[in-house]
Amino acid sequence: MFSYRHAFHAGNHADVLKHLTLIATLQHLMHKDPGIQFVDTHAGAGLYRLDGDYAEKSGEAADGYLKLRNFQSETPVAPIDDYLHMVASFNEKGSARVYPGSPFIIHRLLRHAARDRLKLFELHPTDHKSLTGNVEQLQAGRTVSVLRQDGFEGLKALLPPPVSSGGSRRACVLIDPSYELKTDYFRVTDCIQDSLRRFATGTYLVWYPIIPRAEAHDLPRRLKGLCAPIKKPWLHATLNIGRSPRSDDKGLSASGMFIINPPYTLKPLLKEALPVLEQALGRGLGQGFTLESGG
Ligand code: SAM
Repeated sequence: MFSYRHAFHAGNHADVLKHLTLIATLQHLMHKDPGIQFVDTHAGAGLYRLDGDYAEKSGEAADGYLKLRNFQSETPVAPIDDYLHMVASFNEKGSARVYPGSPFIIHRLLRHAARDRLKLFELHPTDHKSLTGNVEQLQAGRTVSVLRQDGFEGLKALLPPPVSSGGSRRACVLIDPSYELKTDYFRVTDCIQDSLRRFATGTYLVWYPIIPRAEAHDLPRRLKGLCAPIKKPWLHATLNIGRSPRSDDKGLSASGMFIINPPYTLKPLLKEALPVLEQALGRGLGQGFTLESGG
């Protein structure tokens, strides 16, 4: 079974980029009335303790959410503020003990009147158990479902999404594997290809690590290659926090988000946020960001 546990990484710089992008995307999607089906193919445990053993051992949030929280920006940047407010809303005033994972962030933004739905896939037995327990506390009934299934496979049965109360089909999918297995990179592209065939107008968000590995390097290129022939718009953002010259830390320092059918508002928001994220989280050697779009 897998050894990856997101509790070691919760609130790190990769979560900052991923969750900020997720919130900015969802906020736009929620402007239209009809209900949406959200799918989180790799959900994790849902909630994490920043003062617990896992997070304290890795200390990754210190270079991510906790650092951003203490950063004094000269001018307010809306997507960063929205992200910080979202995380703060899970904590008592002034404290930072809890970090919400993607299922709880999405749930917080769901509209009950529009009958939005959230489907969560998690394979790891321990994280599935934690997620189930955490979601039970929400008393969300049929609005949120937790499935212990392979998220890549499970997604197939959910696309196209059902017709909403407003008469249209809408879906937004977050694909956030741990990439423990090299095959995950290929499964992501296969999954996107299949999903676009099933439901071409969905919004798809893919997170990936930027590491010296051919499959990781090739992933955004392969995703662009899937969008080009069917003229699907895409947006690609990366954030690299670099390495301190004195640091012997060999952990992840960069990651990317690739969004297919992004809301038109997302690019300007990321354009505003990325330089500030670099300023706030940058550690030195190699730090930077990129933002490109196409389709
Ligand atoms: N999306 C979460 C968030 O942002 O809070 C973090 C998810 S973590 C990066 C990836 C999760 O996927 C892990 O909890 C892992 O156990 C789970 N996982 C790995 N392979 C899977 C698969 N094929 N289907 C569903 N879950 C899987």
